[in-house]
Amino acid sequence: MAQTPSPAPKPNPIAIAVHGGAGVIERETMSPESEAAYRAALELSLRTGHAILVAGGSSLDAVAAAVRVLEDSPLFNAGKGAVFTLEGKNELDAAIMEGRTLRAGAVAGVTRIRNPIDLARAVMERSSHVLLSGPGAEEFAASIGMPFVDPSYFHTPERWEQLQRLKAALAANPKLTLSSDAPGLRDSPEARRIDTKFGTVGAVAVDRRGDLAAATSTGGMTGKRWGRVGDTPLIGAGTWADNATVAVSATGHGEFFIRNAVAHDIAAMVAYRGLPVRAAAEEVVLRKLVQRGGEGGVIAIDRKGNIAQPFNSKGMYRGAIDVDGKLTIAIFRD
Ligand code: ASP
Repeated sequence: MAQTPSPAPKPNPIAIAVHGGAGVIERETMSPESEAAYRAALELSLRTGHAILVAGGSSLDAVAAAVRVLEDSPLFNAGKGAVFTLEGKNELDAAIMEGRTLRAGAVAGVTRIRNPIDLARAVMERSSHVLLSGPGAEEFAASIGMPFVDPSYFHTPERWEQLQRLKAALAANPKLTLSSDAPGLRDSPEARRIDTKFGTVGAVAVDRRGDLAAATSTGGMTGKRWGRVGDTPLIGAGTWADNATVAVSATGHGEFFIRNAVAHDIAAMVAYRGLPVRAAAEEVVLRKLVQRGGEGGVIAIDRKGNIAQPFNSKGMYRGAIDVDGKLTIAIFRD
C-alpha cells in the first residue's frame, strides 16, 4: 500500500519590527514633509527586511538589511547622520544577535565603517570575540577586507548644529551636565532646543524557521566624551535575541539601559515569569525604567511573531510588518 507522504512542517509565521529612536518627538514641532520622510525611510527598512523573510531568508539577514537602510539614511542617529561627540567626531556603536545559537557580535567607537552593523556581524561570524572597540575593531575590519569611508562621510549639518546648540547651552549654564543622570538637562528648555531625540536604529525579526534575531546601531549621544559607550553594543542591555524567549532592540538614554540590563530583563520576564512579550516589555519600559528615571523604548518580538513597541518618551520612530503582512508605522504617542 502506498504510503501517504507526511505533510511538510508548517512554516513559522514571519514578522519584523524596526525603530528609529525614541525621545522628544512631538507632532507640533514636526513638519509634514519631515514626517513623510521619516515614514518613507522606516517603510523602506521594513520592506527590505520583510522581503528577505518572505523569500525564506534568515531573521539575521533581515535585521541586518533593515538596519543598513536606516544607517544609510541621514535622518537617523546611526551610520550617516550619527551624532557628534563633544570633540566633534562621530563614534559609532552596533550589535547583532542570533536567537538560535545565542551568537552575538558588536563594535564600539568605530569612526570609518560605513555600516557598523556589518562589522558587528563580522565580529560574530569571523572572530572569536563578541565586542571589539575603537582602533582594534577597525584593524579587524581591515584584516577581513571591509571597505573604509572617510570620517567626513558621517558629517551632517543638522547633527553639527545640534552639537553647537548643546555646547552653547553647556557654556551658558554650567550646572547642566552630560553625566549619566544628566539632572535637569533632559527636561530643560535647553534640552528642547538641543533636540534630545535619540535616533538610534534597530530591528527584530522572526523567520520561517522560527529563529529570532536582533540588531541595533547608533552614534550614541550628542556630546559624549572619553570614549563613552552606550547600551547599543552591550549584549543584554540594548540588544538581545534568544529563541527561548524574545528578540529585543532598545533606544534611549543608554546609561539607564545598561544599569537595568533592559533587553535581557525583558527576556527574563518571559522566561522566569512566563509573561507574554508585550507584558514583559511594558513591565520593564513603562514601570521599572520610569521608576528609575530612564527615558526610551524598545521593540521586541517572540517566535510567534507577537510584537511589542513600548516607549516612555514623547515619541519613538517605529514600524512593523506583522504575521498577516500588515504594515504599520508610527512616530508619536498616537
Ligand atoms: N541608546 C543610545 C545610547 O545611549 C542612544 C539612542 O538610543 O539614541 O548610546
